[in-house]
Amino acid sequence: MHSAIRIFREVVLEVEPKKRVFIGLLVFTCLILFFLIFLLWYVPLVGLKNIHPSLPLIFSLALAVLVFLMISGGLLLIFTILRGKDILFSHKLRGIVAKVLFPFMILMGKLVGVSKEKVQQSFIELNNHLVRSNQHRTRPNRLLVLLPHCIQDFDCQIKITGNIKNCKGCGKCEIKDLIELSDQYQVKIAVATGGTLARRIIVENRPEAIVAVACELDLTSGVQDSYPIPVIGILNERPNGPCFNTKVDIQKVRNAILDFLGNSP
Ligand code: SF4
Repeated sequence: MHSAIRIFREVVLEVEPKKRVFIGLLVFTCLILFFLIFLLWYVPLVGLKNIHPSLPLIFSLALAVLVFLMISGGLLLIFTILRGKDILFSHKLRGIVAKVLFPFMILMGKLVGVSKEKVQQSFIELNNHLVRSNQHRTRPNRLLVLLPHCIQDFDCQIKITGNIKNCKGCGKCEIKDLIELSDQYQVKIAVATGGTLARRIIVENRPEAIVAVACELDLTSGVQDSYPIPVIGILNERPNGPCFNTKVDIQKVRNAILDFLGNSP
């Protein structure tokens, strides 16, 4: 028993801190759900017997299946994270994490005092990990690099939403480097001023995969809205505060592009 706990502790400590937040909240959520399921099983049991003698057994079996699915899903998720490779259904797991688990995690984070921003960062890390585990490959012309408008130099008068190639390449902001990157790998690139425009760009370009740069809030909603399209999210850097002359690590964008194109960085 002691050695099992030791192995579990070592395994959990191996996981990057950002992902650990999500796993910790996931375990906490499971414990609460198990307790609620127990109450759900125990309380109506007496009443069900009065309706039909076999109803308690059917009800218990249904809840047992639910608990089994929860435990298997949770373990599969944890082992996919630890192994870094697709074990089973990592594509489906990504959907469950984005659509079901994430809203729960925000709630649980509030309960145990983990900030929304930290849970969002953890979610993005976990999503990127699942996308990479799935080893989804695409052709360059079906890969879209989506950027936030705040990455453009605030004083630049050129309109780059609609057509980023209007940029004159003066080098005052990273738009120049990002265009060069998209030219080098022949991938599509666009700038969005918000969620509505981002959705329109996605509908018009019909990408098979997306590399998105944005803040925590926009990335999490983008990943959720875009599912089942795989998205690797890269957090922008905000040395001048939010939404103003933001920056991005170009190497991280390059690595994400190469992950989708199937070349090692
Ligand atoms: S690199 Fe392009 S977008 Fe950035 S300031 Fe220069 S012209 Fe404007």
